[in-house]
Amino acid sequence: MSTKPPHRIILNFQFSILNSLLSRALVITVLLAIPIVTPLPVRGDSSPEIRLLLDEQLPRVVVSGDSILVEMWDKGGWQPAINRVRSVGFSPMRGEVQLDGAAIVAPTFRIKPRNGMLRYGGRPFRGYLTVLINGGRLLVVSQMPLESYLVGVVNGEIDSSWPMDAVKAQVVAARSYALYQMKVQALYYDLKTDVSSQVYAGFDSEDERTREAVKATRGQVLYKDEDLIQTFFHSSCGGNTTSAREVWGMAQPAQDGVYCGECEEAPYARWNLPLEAGEIIRVVKAFFPGVDEVSSMGVHRRSRDGRIQTLFAETGKGRVLFDAGEFRKEMGYRRLPSTSFSLGMSGDRIILTGQGYGHGVGLCQWGARGSALRGMDYKQILRKYYVGAEIKRAY
Ligand SMILES: [Zn+2]
Repeated sequence: MSTKPPHRIILNFQFSILNSLLSRALVITVLLAIPIVTPLPVRGDSSPEIRLLLDEQLPRVVVSGDSILVEMWDKGGWQPAINRVRSVGFSPMRGEVQLDGAAIVAPTFRIKPRNGMLRYGGRPFRGYLTVLINGGRLLVVSQMPLESYLVGVVNGEIDSSWPMDAVKAQVVAARSYALYQMKVQALYYDLKTDVSSQVYAGFDSEDERTREAVKATRGQVLYKDEDLIQTFFHSSCGGNTTSAREVWGMAQPAQDGVYCGECEEAPYARWNLPLEAGEIIRVVKAFFPGVDEVSSMGVHRRSRDGRIQTLFAETGKGRVLFDAGEFRKEMGYRRLPSTSFSLGMSGDRIILTGQGYGHGVGLCQWGARGSALRGMDYKQILRKYYVGAEIKRAY
């Protein structure tokens, strides 16, 4: 499932603008303080390297493996710190990272497997891991070639047993999104591993079909004119996809909303959600803390495709308006599957009757499955949901 709240995108855009506004002197200072991580080739995969944030705000990090090499950033390069160990621990130390048990302190450490794979948090990881410090706490970043990463994305987002053309369409969309984020050049990482970016289910989720779909589409991404597309996707649209402009107030190339008509088999194709007064008051209070009573609630504005943009509530202090996307976020993305719903009353309760799961922008994943079952190939599927997009090889 992919649910991408707009604040993350906006943050990234702001970050990129901020980066470009930094003075030359400041850029040099930042570069000196933060090591530029050079790509480490992984056998058989020479694609660009992606940086995934696994965890942040940590007081301690432990990494294990069969035989580990740890390198530290020192004097403008990576220097060996400790070699041939099975487990290493790191802690914050006066604004830097300390390699426990060795009394070595550096701004960052890189942990490589000499053979086999690294383990962190009980899971195996491809590539290598980097431990950095930010605000006195540790971050763990996983780095691996983009193609290797994608093999572990498919089963986080969809089910690799779906028709192969639906799986390939997902892979190309996920590759475009990832490559777009990599070009933003944020300081510590390119993507998270959860629904706020796209779900990385990891090495454990890889299978023959995910490998086949990635290999068959190697390097393929989506462009509109000369621009790589930040390809959004969602679980099911409920009938029509919508435009990024109407959901987030910002245009995205080739993501204007289309007729889908292929996601009727999705688990949340149609849903009902009864809400007690207490829950509605709790959510409205999150936006308007002074409110203590809500007598009714309704739609203030809908987008052209029928998704709700703004809701209203009649309260003891008058009518208040709030953003439907923020309402969904506050309710919980799982509890309120989409902003495509209508409201009715049943006794004391408000009944939401809706369709689809997710924000509705870009590829409808269940629609891709339905389209593939009807015989469309992955290129046709991608052109259906990203109108005007071209498939190109990025590498
Ligand atoms: Zn759909």
